[in-house]
Amino acid sequence: MTVRVAVNGFGTIGKRVADAVAKQPDLELVGVTKTRPSFEGRRAMEKGYPLYLAGDGKAADFAAAGLPLAGTAAELFRTVDVVVDASPDKVGRENRKLYEAAGVRAIFQGGEKADIAEVSFNALGNYSAAHGRRSVRVVSCNTTGLARAAAVLRANWGVDHWEATLVRRGADPAESKKGPINGILPTFDLPSHHGPDVRTIFPDLSIATIAVVVPTTLMHVHVNHVRLKQAPHDAAEVIAAFRTTPRFHLFAPWERADGTPQVMEYARDRGIGFNDMMENVLWEGGVRLDGRDLYFFQAIHQESITVPENIDAIRAMFDLARDGPESIAKTDRALGLSRS
Ligand code: NAD
Repeated sequence: MTVRVAVNGFGTIGKRVADAVAKQPDLELVGVTKTRPSFEGRRAMEKGYPLYLAGDGKAADFAAAGLPLAGTAAELFRTVDVVVDASPDKVGRENRKLYEAAGVRAIFQGGEKADIAEVSFNALGNYSAAHGRRSVRVVSCNTTGLARAAAVLRANWGVDHWEATLVRRGADPAESKKGPINGILPTFDLPSHHGPDVRTIFPDLSIATIAVVVPTTLMHVHVNHVRLKQAPHDAAEVIAAFRTTPRFHLFAPWERADGTPQVMEYARDRGIGFNDMMENVLWEGGVRLDGRDLYFFQAIHQESITVPENIDAIRAMFDLARDGPESIAKTDRALGLSRS
């Protein structure tokens, strides 16, 4: 069985999900949408992705730009099995009406509130919860990173309580109108919304998060202190658990990856996707254990970490894999993700 997929919104997340869908043997990318012409629309054309008109876009603008349209978004939605909505925050809620009108299943992103879909999703965390669903929300980049780590810690030692400080990037690299350019902005929403969002995946997880926004575009960094239920033997045991779990990439001290600049340089060297780093990144030198108290840093590439999760969400909805591990392995093989 091949599932026919449309991607609605061809920005940071949408263009990555479209490429990821096109690489899967059991998925077919039927088309992508744009509201107005841009270099990203041009790339869609160059890649051979049929382009459809979305939102309040005007067909004449595309004709003037020389970008051929295959039709309107509404026409596209009627020809596919599922739409991945990758439109800006809160726009997905408006778009939901279009999906309902077309009778098509939908995946939403983390910029939407949890009640947009039947279930919130993370492949390592709750794969089977999306099984057979008509609507699924892939949680945000930070929540995906926390949920993946929670899946490892809960399965191995249990989590008593988790305190995380999220050092958030100010903007994505192409967002030239956002900031801060200088300064550190505390998020006065205390604790931050990320903790409750992780509980959409693990309802009983005791976690409190706080956040600051800093002038960088590369990645987020999470500073974690977790009191585990059972003490691991040593930090090496924790490192081994992360190393042997898909979607984690660990840097050994000898690799001299001091921080996010080197992590993203590695991603450019590796050159998969858009030079993306779709895994949670941990530094072995940044993992410490004191009895049941675990301290670790993890870096999250906001632009790409949710991309493989969108693929697994489709597989779960359409029963294309036996379980989460099988889907994750299939996705990661097609995307060229390595196991560190
Ligand atoms: P983006 O602004 O880069 O891309 C959104 C795209 O949707 C743009 O191309 C825009 O023109 C298009 N669009 C606007 N109105 C539309 C409409 N009515 N119908 C269809 N398309 C429309 O945004 P993004 O960063 O890709 O974010 C998309 C979603 O993914 C949001 O929910 C966001 O919270 C979530 N997300 C973003 C990141 C990130 O760091 N960028 C990480 C994880 C999740």
